[in-house]
Amino acid sequence: MSNSFHADVVVLGAGPGGYAAAFRAADLGKSVILIDKDETLGGVCLNRGCIPSKALLHLARVKSESSEVQNFGLTFPEPEWDLEAVKQWKNERVVGRLTKGIAALAKARKVQVITGSGVFTSPTSIEVSGTEGAKIVTFDDAIIAVGSHPTKIPGFPEDPRIMDSTSALDLDSIPENLLIIGGGYIGLEMGTIYSALGSNVTVVEFMPNLLPGADADVVKPLEKRLKKEFASIQTGTKVLGIEPQKDFLEVKIEGKSGPETMQVDKVLVAVGRRPNTFGNGFENIGLDIDDRGFIKVNEKRQTNLPHVYAIGDITGDPMLAHKATHEGKVAAEVICGQPAAFDVSIIPAVIFTDPEIAWAGLTETQAKEQGIDYDKGVFPWSASGRALALGRTEGFSKALFDKETGKLIGMSIVGTNAGDLIAEAVLAMEMGADAEDISLIIHPHPSLSESVGNAAEIVAGSITDLFAPKK
Ligand code: NAD
Repeated sequence: MSNSFHADVVVLGAGPGGYAAAFRAADLGKSVILIDKDETLGGVCLNRGCIPSKALLHLARVKSESSEVQNFGLTFPEPEWDLEAVKQWKNERVVGRLTKGIAALAKARKVQVITGSGVFTSPTSIEVSGTEGAKIVTFDDAIIAVGSHPTKIPGFPEDPRIMDSTSALDLDSIPENLLIIGGGYIGLEMGTIYSALGSNVTVVEFMPNLLPGADADVVKPLEKRLKKEFASIQTGTKVLGIEPQKDFLEVKIEGKSGPETMQVDKVLVAVGRRPNTFGNGFENIGLDIDDRGFIKVNEKRQTNLPHVYAIGDITGDPMLAHKATHEGKVAAEVICGQPAAFDVSIIPAVIFTDPEIAWAGLTETQAKEQGIDYDKGVFPWSASGRALALGRTEGFSKALFDKETGKLIGMSIVGTNAGDLIAEAVLAMEMGADAEDISLIIHPHPSLSESVGNAAEIVAGSITDLFAPKK
């Protein structure tokens, strides 16, 4: 069998960005080769990130709801975990099913998948080392979609009890005491999972607030709930060092009340992700890379080599799967001669905790920093019939409208299913909607989606579900 291959388009990395790029290019008539180190397609997101964590977060939510409904007259026995069954469900029936689905989609499109580690050896070739030996793949155009990896804290020892998000999702054992370093997306999602599994969870966050990218008022309802579930949340706190002992990890932290030592069974480090800049031969082809390791691209996702494109985490923040997918389609369409470009203005962010937090467009903090004059409508879910029926009234929906243009410029939501509700705000912003446009849309009743319309009604002056005295 020959070890040389050629395709019109080669995609390096088969995460949500890479496989979308490969499939779009194939659908537009190109021959495509998709290369990935993993045996299964889907990258970090499908195999050891977004999808398995959502499966476990679902179980965590069912567990807490089964206990909360006792207050409403429905009683269950104390839930019990069968960890092996949970792992099997997560790995086979959720992740496995999806990755098999992606493989079937690749086959149906005649996208050739090559498993192995790809390194650029020239501007038109990649050498792939895999279990079947080295293969040389040549191409007319390439799309780099190699993603990112968890950031390590320098000076920490190597110890299997110090986990990153990948090992934490394996659920090898459930620690009695778990310290999570970083109160961001991963820290709070994984904290929710481990707390439901029975661990005493402590979160230490370097910054003064959890989820530093979100507005503080939006984080508050989540923080209030997590404070009840977690053993402790310490903001403005840094970890000075970890000393592995035989039976525990000794961790030195320093916060508002000075240095402190704690003993925990495991630590999860969730302090961000770094681009996979090294080991792919980018230096062999002279790619322009910024000082943080991100590949520089233009709006067409072209690098400084016009036939080499880059998408997803390797091109910079926000490191989100849905951004990568969109960029992948843009790159494929540009290669196929379509007038596509990437408009980065509105990329929704969702933290899948309970309650969920979601925002799109500008946060209020950003609007203030940018000196934008805005009108604000905040609809409290305590006035939502659906939220009351769910027993989850702690949330709210906050809409910001530009005073000058009247258009929606930002939406932040905290509450059950906020991650689904934010899609309406994204559409509204993309379509240039103002408060009146949104308030005149008939939202289904009773639904949480009404809260988006209600927030707009507050600014439009037509709210009836609240009493807003005339100014
Ligand atoms: P993050 O940037 O969301 O959060 C990291 C947190 O760690 C920050 O709040 C930061 O201030 C804090 N921190 C940094 N150094 C610290 C230190 N030494 N001590 C204490 N705190 C420290 O990063 P993450 O949670 O690791 O997630 C990585 C990326 O993965 C995210 O940026 C996101 O793009 C992606 N992700 C997304 C989702 C989602 O979309 N729901 C879920 C998980 C991960």
